[in-house]
Amino acid sequence: SAPERLLTVAGLRVSYRGIAAVTDVDFHVDAGELVGIIGPNGAGKSSTMHAIVGAVRASATTLEFAGRGLAGQPTERIARRGIALVQEGHNVFGRLTVRENLRLGSTARASSDGLAEDLRWVLSLFPILDEFADRQAGLLSGGQQQQLAIGRALLAAPRLLALDEPSLGLSPTAVDTVFASIAAIRERGTAVLLVEQRAQQAVAAADRTHVLSEGRITMTLGPEHANDSALLMKAYLGS
Ligand code: ATP
Repeated sequence: SAPERLLTVAGLRVSYRGIAAVTDVDFHVDAGELVGIIGPNGAGKSSTMHAIVGAVRASATTLEFAGRGLAGQPTERIARRGIALVQEGHNVFGRLTVRENLRLGSTARASSDGLAEDLRWVLSLFPILDEFADRQAGLLSGGQQQQLAIGRALLAAPRLLALDEPSLGLSPTAVDTVFASIAAIRERGTAVLLVEQRAQQAVAAADRTHVLSEGRITMTLGPEHANDSALLMKAYLGS
């Protein structure tokens, strides 16, 4: 049977004060897929992500999640319907402990069913969160804070995890940890929408990666293109 269509985006447009940041973007994510969006600074990646979760105003011919429209819905309702966003930067509550941050993630779940199992899984994915459960989140390293932000999002039990540049500003080891966790999350069945500037790693990890340039999708790459550096370069330069 055909995989379930989770997210459908067609004719997406985002403008700021009349200036288009995203123009006519089309793509989809099926259940369990990992879809990448890459492109240079200012290409419209974050705007696309924010439009999906209702954080910026957008227009679209189709913007649907699990067969129902997302347009005009408040961000909180979209979260409850199964999309969790991890924003760019390390979005943790620095004064709260790791455990408290994780607990906040679980408050966004549609149901408490499976919470204990999800928590065990998150702590096995990111053992440092178990070790530092009682530490203030603000005292963690950047890489550890990113693990916490992803762990918190997972405890909302999303069907689609939207990650906005999760590797930004991390050490090489921390970047590897983040990418390994993304593979494991997808392996467990959660679909992932991954916005990245690290083209090679994103293309290697994703089922499809859309190249965004000046608000439009200019190219779509498969994992077989991950080592074609000439193509990736061309994708970035938009030529
Ligand atoms: P980055 O990697 O720098 O986050 P991006 O690909 O995510 O880039 P966006 O952040 O979506 O790109 O920005 C797309 C365009 O929209 C840019 O020209 C940016 O300056 C503009 N823009 C983004 N947010 C706003 C805003 N709140 N108000 C006005 N212009 C904005």
